Amino acid sequence: MAAVFTRIAGAKGKGVFAARAFAAGEKIVYVEGTPIPNDVALAMPQEKLDHMGSCDAHHCIVWREPECYINHSCEPNVYEKNRWIIAMRDIAEGEELAFDYAMNGVSGIDDWQMDCLCESASCRKKVCGEFFALPVDVQRKYVPFLDDWFVQMYKEQIARLRPIPILVNFK
Ligand SMILES: [Zn+2]
Repeated sequence: MAAVFTRIAGAKGKGVFAARAFAAGEKIVYVEGTPIPNDVALAMPQEKLDHMGSCDAHHCIVWREPECYINHSCEPNVYEKNRWIIAMRDIAEGEELAFDYAMNGVSGIDDWQMDCLCESASCRKKVCGEFFALPVDVQRKYVPFLDDWFVQMYKEQIARLRPIPILVNFK
């Protein structure tokens, strides 16, 4: 049985829904596709750019169906790491899957904005593409869910988001 299915999700157009329940941390869909160098990817037509995701610091992938129809939410329930779409929390059968599009969003590539239709309680009204353009408390909440290449690329900025360790002086 397929893990997900697509159907119209109100004003957002098509969306992707869980075909069964998933536990937090469970892998849901693998993002297929061939990595394309960023400069080549950015020169592609808009309909491809709309479904493009970074897969490392230098490459993008044009996402295919069904995963290309996963909508944005300011209260996401999935994230992407090492090309897997993974449950951020327990997800019920029939629930819509949603990312925060700003996760792993690189400055200079993902510097776009759009109106948000997610209608969640913590909706930011505008979706931005860049991770570091997010409010700091949101950045901090997403640290455990960022992709490995993104954490590597922005090591220092992300280290500053982690809780400050309490230094104990043993004398
Ligand atoms: Zn929103």
